[in-house]
Amino acid sequence: MTERMGPQMTDFVTGSLDVAWIHGRRGEPAIQTHVYDERTVILRQSKRVEYEAPFLYLLFGDDRALLLDTGASADPALFPLRATVDALVDAWLAKHPRDGYELVVAHSHGHGDHVAADAQFAGRPGTTVVPHDEPEVRRFFGFPGGLTGSVPFDLGGRVLEILGSPGHHEAAITVYDPWTGFLLTGDTVYPGRLYVADYPAFRDTLERLVAFADTHPVSHVLGCHIEMTRTPGRDYPLGARFQPDEHVLPLTVAQLAEVRDATVRTGGRQGRHRHRDFILYISPGNKEKRDLLVRAKLRRLQEALLRP
Ligand SMILES: [Zn+2]
Repeated sequence: MTERMGPQMTDFVTGSLDVAWIHGRRGEPAIQTHVYDERTVILRQSKRVEYEAPFLYLLFGDDRALLLDTGASADPALFPLRATVDALVDAWLAKHPRDGYELVVAHSHGHGDHVAADAQFAGRPGTTVVPHDEPEVRRFFGFPGGLTGSVPFDLGGRVLEILGSPGHHEAAITVYDPWTGFLLTGDTVYPGRLYVADYPAFRDTLERLVAFADTHPVSHVLGCHIEMTRTPGRDYPLGARFQPDEHVLPLTVAQLAEVRDATVRTGGRQGRHRHRDFILYISPGNKEKRDLLVRAKLRRLQEALLRP
């Protein structure tokens, strides 16, 4: 069975990102699913379950689906990711019946808050869970050299481009989706604290992402967290479990270029560099870590007193 994917490369499906994301209110679900379009689902883990509250992306092609990231909690009783994804895949297959539909579980990068529920997918029929260390990521996607070029990855009528994006994490990738125009930047670029572990690699990655966005139609730059508030330059404390005044998730190509420019301007100078929509932490040292932890402790006290 075949069906035509509608849009050309330059006109995207129309979807809405005007979403009231869950952000830690009492009684909210462990996982929120937002159907952007029939083939594209954005998921968010609740801050009630884990303060990192990462975003996950599920993209359906004709032959297989890609789940990008598995969240910050392993326990299916707390965080039923497998059951949620199974229900979404089943619903999609009910409308688009076909045999042998596969699921690929890959990761924006290998940090613990993006890979925690991998084991929930062990033994799932037709499923590949891509390991999250750098050599395995390169091997799976077929990068010819290091993780600095880009390679296509075909879901069936939906050919993603996988861009190696080291700097925050050595095995980080960015996923470009021509169906929606999404540039999925993981923890490399999002409205929050951008931790730069390898400055030259991060700077080169940002240069390549900006160059890519200059030559490909990008609708939204979407990362995996929100840590900024709606007040310019102000972030929520590390560990915040209630974020009623969050920055919006999507960033623009212009904001991507701002991250690039800000990164270049630091010249690799260690420390915190605060900007309107993001804060760069270049090779964060003991001082930056101590400041974050002190503020996190105050926040926990505050939230204990004023639990929403
Ligand atoms: Zn990370």
